[in-house]
Amino acid sequence: MPIDTMIKKAYDLVQKGRIEAIGDELFNVVGEHGTYTVARRIDRTVNCNCLGFVRKGRCSHSLAVLMLTQPALLRTVQKQVSKASYRAESEPRHR
Ligand SMILES: [Zn+2]
Repeated sequence: MPIDTMIKKAYDLVQKGRIEAIGDELFNVVGEHGTYTVARRIDRTVNCNCLGFVRKGRCSHSLAVLMLTQPALLRTVQKQVSKASYRAESEPRHR
């Protein structure tokens, strides 16, 4: 999936409160296809147990945890998302 789609998904997870801290450096992220566990390492990199992360080394879950734990990053993403008049193509809008 393209990077910006992943960023939007991650931002969405943060906004909807889908991230739950279950330990000092351990988070449960409720994604579209299940709940995944994201661990933060001492060097502040993150690790997720979903297939996307295993294959590509990145995913919306781990990105969401990075946003949640780094307010400066979240603010940057917030600006980008509001500028791009945020609308998720994959989700049909309810009227
Ligand atoms: Zn993941």
